[in-house]
Amino acid sequence: MKIGAPRELEPGEARVALTPESAGRLQKLGHECLVESGAGLAASFSDDTYRAAGVKVVDTAAELWAEADVIAKVRAPMPQELDAAPDGKTLISFVWPAQNEELLAKLNAKRMTVLAMDMVPRISRAQKMDALSSMANIAGYRAVIEAGNNFGRFFTGQVTAAGKVPPAKVLVVGAGVAGLAAIGTSVALGAMTYAFDVRPEVAEQIESMGAEFVFLDFEEDQTDGAETGGYAKPSSPEFREKQLEKFRELAPEMDIVITTALIPGRPAPKLWLEDMVKAMKPGSVVVDLAAERGGNCDLTVPDQKVVSENGVTIVGYTDFPSRMATQASNLYSTNIRHMMDDLTPEKDGVVVVNMEDDVIRGALVCHEGEITFPPPPPKVK
Ligand code: NAD
Repeated sequence: MKIGAPRELEPGEARVALTPESAGRLQKLGHECLVESGAGLAASFSDDTYRAAGVKVVDTAAELWAEADVIAKVRAPMPQELDAAPDGKTLISFVWPAQNEELLAKLNAKRMTVLAMDMVPRISRAQKMDALSSMANIAGYRAVIEAGNNFGRFFTGQVTAAGKVPPAKVLVVGAGVAGLAAIGTSVALGAMTYAFDVRPEVAEQIESMGAEFVFLDFEEDQTDGAETGGYAKPSSPEFREKQLEKFRELAPEMDIVITTALIPGRPAPKLWLEDMVKAMKPGSVVVDLAAERGGNCDLTVPDQKVVSENGVTIVGYTDFPSRMATQASNLYSTNIRHMMDDLTPEKDGVVVVNMEDDVIRGALVCHEGEITFPPPPPKVK
């Protein structure tokens, strides 16, 4: 099969779905690879590096869509791409089918076979294809870097000839994939790092990374059961009150707050309220990784950086992985390569959509003229 990556058209999107390295490996599975000229440039992959890896570089998106059997993308096709797309292609990209019914219908009308990278089930065997985790890991790291970029002091404490410097205090709210990456980065930079999550089972992970788990004197059933697949459930009003009380107590002390709290299928819970921002010291920073889903902080403006009246910077960017486009493209294209590996069982360049494969079935949202979303629950954990 021919696998092709066009240039991403979404404004500001710097990632690319195929890197020269992943293309090289896909070729070992019997596939041919092609990219649209300039597709990798914003992620620092020139046309020449693709050519050196044996990838054909075509001049236009139209040529790419016409020649490739499988289109690998980061973002789902924009309307103008879809209108021009030939029928019957296989598409692998982020799709978010639950939020994009109209897009799904259009993809299906083009009789596309569509594998949504955001629908890869979060089971052990699928970890190598888990693009959500790859991107969340980058977002967590980048959140700390962004916080540092807006913070006027060191993270680590120092004793210098010019005086003693106290370490920065960082609070990470939500310890999923992004939160744990933020905790690791913050600890590595030498900050005193605190973290909170509604799932008490993450306390051990937080502490093993050198951060302090913020305990609440309140018990609530947030067990990591099959019912939620390890995700959080909405908190009870009593728990939420306790949590906010704790955050109010911590706000004047914290220099940096990184919020990552999400509950599947719901807007982000509001956890860092206006009065907490007001209680923070001037020069403090809040980075809200939940901005795209409405934000965990009352004052977050999605896609923007704002400064509160008392001088607290609130960063609400929603494109952290794209801000580290080389790294993000490397990980994303590796996730896609692993998916292609599963789709090419004989390593002979022939794509087989195996509906019995939990991972393929989970990600498959359109096939043979039918919308196959939502999938049945995976059989294996
Ligand atoms: P997420 O992005 O949905 O949520 C981020 C974090 O916010 C979660 O840890 C959640 O508990 C927390 N949260 C929700 N409400 C909160 C509140 N009010 N206060 C504080 N924290 C709150 O999570 P994620 O990063 O996608 O990970 C979710 C789960 O999936 C985790 O258990 C993770 O280990 C698991 N996971 C498993 C796999 C796998 O097995 N392949 C891969 C990735 C993630």
